[in-house]
Amino acid sequence: MSQPTVEQFHAEALAFLEANAPRKEAEKKFVWGEGADKVSMFEEKDRKSETHDVALACAWRQKKFDAGFGYIFGSEQYGGRELPAAYSKIYESLEAKYEIPNQSCFTIGLGMVAPTIVAHGSDIARETYVRKMYRGEIVGCQLFSEPGAGSDLASLSTKAERDGEEWVITGQKVWTSGAHYSDIGEIIARTDFDMPKHKGLTGFIVDMRAPGVEIRPLRQMTGGASFNEVFFSEVRVRDDHRLGDINNGWNVALTTLMNERAAIGAGGGGGGMFTRVIEMVKYYGLEKDPVVRDALADLIIHNKVAGFNNQRAMDKIKSGQMPGPEMSMAKLAGTANMMRMGDFVSMVLGPKLIADSGEWGTYAWNQLILGTPGGRIAGGSDEVMRNIVAERVLGMPKDPGIDSKSPFNELRK
Ligand SMILES: Cc1cc2nc3c(=O)[nH]c(=O)nc-3n(C[C@H](O)[C@H](O)[C@H](O)COP(=O)(O)OP(=O)(O)OC[C@H]3O[C@@H](n4cnc5c(N)ncnc54)[C@H](O)[C@@H]3O)c2cc1C
Repeated sequence: MSQPTVEQFHAEALAFLEANAPRKEAEKKFVWGEGADKVSMFEEKDRKSETHDVALACAWRQKKFDAGFGYIFGSEQYGGRELPAAYSKIYESLEAKYEIPNQSCFTIGLGMVAPTIVAHGSDIARETYVRKMYRGEIVGCQLFSEPGAGSDLASLSTKAERDGEEWVITGQKVWTSGAHYSDIGEIIARTDFDMPKHKGLTGFIVDMRAPGVEIRPLRQMTGGASFNEVFFSEVRVRDDHRLGDINNGWNVALTTLMNERAAIGAGGGGGGMFTRVIEMVKYYGLEKDPVVRDALADLIIHNKVAGFNNQRAMDKIKSGQMPGPEMSMAKLAGTANMMRMGDFVSMVLGPKLIADSGEWGTYAWNQLILGTPGGRIAGGSDEVMRNIVAERVLGMPKDPGIDSKSPFNELRK
């Protein structure tokens, strides 16, 4: 198929969106006290409305995939169009101007799991899942963390034992976002307990509804339950659902984690909330207060700088390079800016934040403030990100790590 020009593609995408979704009322000016009184980091939904919203999200993906906008950069073999990444960006920026169902249920499956299946899956696994994932027929989750393995992922102990053409998986995963609405999960399990810890791991695609999989919700301090504990009791997985070679799971995990940083690292830290914050300052008559002005300027400057760094990282991705330490910096800056915003709002609102008086634009902020610490942990904690920046950007000596014989670790005992 011949490649459309950028202008042709733009017109084609616009025609599809115009025909299938209403335009956002972008021009509508934000007015303090009007509209949704909702400011949060995680979506807090009950299971029923979440199931409904996932179905709407899937239906939209099917529609856009069938129109040729669901896998713009992907291989034709799996329904993609093999167009340059810049075309995806054109479509995304156009789509952002339309009211479409929230697509956050695909962040992990499409941002991290699908690219890993493409890179490491067997022909059967790619044929079975890639097209269906981009078409919204299948939602995926990431089964990496365990009670004893988070930052130090290679310490994981969920085991997979070979039994003929199948593997039998037993163990426990934790903090699995969206496991409850996912169809498949990418799991990393230990296949050799005698090898050094990074070497005895293997990746698999597991059916989240297979016998032996038990998903239990975890309630976070915001009140919602967007992630889960997942228990595996002798869950059977076919060998053609293995990702990569046996005992090469660490490289499989790294592919996923590199994509994770790209998928979640790009936020500048609450850019869309600035109007709300500035209007709040005006509403409370604080625009001339020197302390408030100083803190607000600080907030805006930090956000601008994070935006420039993100631009650098995004340009690198657009030009076909792998996201590097810029994404760790982007993630650190994004979450630090969200924390800054929370601190600023707390300073302005004071006790209104902790007692729900029903006043618009006050108590609702506690959802954001209670949610942001989760952002500092998910996808690599602040401390781990700082280690990466220290080592790979600043060239400082390597973090000794918990297994090393470093004297620092002797002191830690
Ligand atoms: C909102 C959210 C969603 C998540 N979703 C998923 C998911 O879908 N799938 C999944 O597999 N996991 C998920 N996670 C789990 C996440 O990947 C882990 O929480 C994270 O890797 C940290 O691991 P841990 O919680 O075991 O903390 P630990 O690794 O035990 O860390 C504890 C503390 O020690 C610090 N620390 C650890 N190592 C070092 C070091 N070398 N140097 C300095 N300090 C260090 C950490 O920064 C932290 O403060 C999610 C977590 C959150 C918060």
